[in-house]
Amino acid sequence: MAAPGVRLAVGRLLEISVAPGRLSRVYSTSQGFAKVLGLPKRQMTKLVYPLQELELYLDPDSRPDLHVRLFDPSLDDIASAENFFAATSKNRIEYLSSAVRLGHAPDSSRPEVCFIGRSNVGKSSLIKALFSLAPEVEVRVSKTPGHTKKMNFFKVGKYFVLVDMPGYGYRAPEDFVDMVETYLKERRNLKRTFLLVDSVAGITEKDKIAIEMCEEFALPYVMVLTKIDKTSKGHLLKQILQIQKFVNTKTQGCFPQLFPVSALTYSGIHLLKCFIVNITTNLNSSNFR
Ligand code: GDP
Repeated sequence: MAAPGVRLAVGRLLEISVAPGRLSRVYSTSQGFAKVLGLPKRQMTKLVYPLQELELYLDPDSRPDLHVRLFDPSLDDIASAENFFAATSKNRIEYLSSAVRLGHAPDSSRPEVCFIGRSNVGKSSLIKALFSLAPEVEVRVSKTPGHTKKMNFFKVGKYFVLVDMPGYGYRAPEDFVDMVETYLKERRNLKRTFLLVDSVAGITEKDKIAIEMCEEFALPYVMVLTKIDKTSKGHLLKQILQIQKFVNTKTQGCFPQLFPVSALTYSGIHLLKCFIVNITTNLNSSNFR
């Protein structure tokens, strides 16, 4: 059952004045989240707060190990954050440009967040899921062997820019290190790096190189665990506890809270969007403890 505050927020969404052609998009956006809120509580928790749902399978003593609630937004805040990712005539979400080196990147007047991860970790699927309310945005995927991959920049309204970095590991472009390292080290408007780790495979040796890079540059970064729908609950819990322990004991710059997601079921996607909005717009800073 939706909290009254959330119902109010959804109601306000429906009142937004938009060009007639866009009305259905805004309406369906708010309806989309309203549908989530209408789900049975357990199902809704699993979709919106996946770690919280997993916690129920642990004995109370181990729960704090799994779920560090530093970022704990209300459903109302999550509903508001959805608007930033919904394309309308007043909130344009679009592909800006691609670059193979930092000098070719678009201007840096807006806050930026970037997504990095090894090839096949689910990065393009995740970015597509984040942009599901802007279906005309084409997330460019270059899977052609030997084809130079690029950094792809996407503008999200007037608020921030999301950057899709080339995947590392298998068939990474030769200039990957040059391109990605320089970007991470020198991009002044980079607010947060999202490092994707496959929740089935756990942290691989290649991921450790990326982690070391983030640590060395003293970047604030966040670990996102992809494909959580793909494995049994027991295996997922084991992996998440191991990764959480690694973050707690072996990292300095990593945000202590993990973000498990599934691009298939959309589990964790709304929470991740709310986190991105919070760190790029300074809205709802009360969501952080
Ligand atoms: P990228 O190389 O990191 O951009 O990875 P892709 O997004 O292309 O995903 C690699 C493979 O994993 C594809 O076959 C996807 O369909 C699959 N995949 C990505 N995300 C998920 C997910 O959340 N759940 C499941 N079950 N499969 C996923």
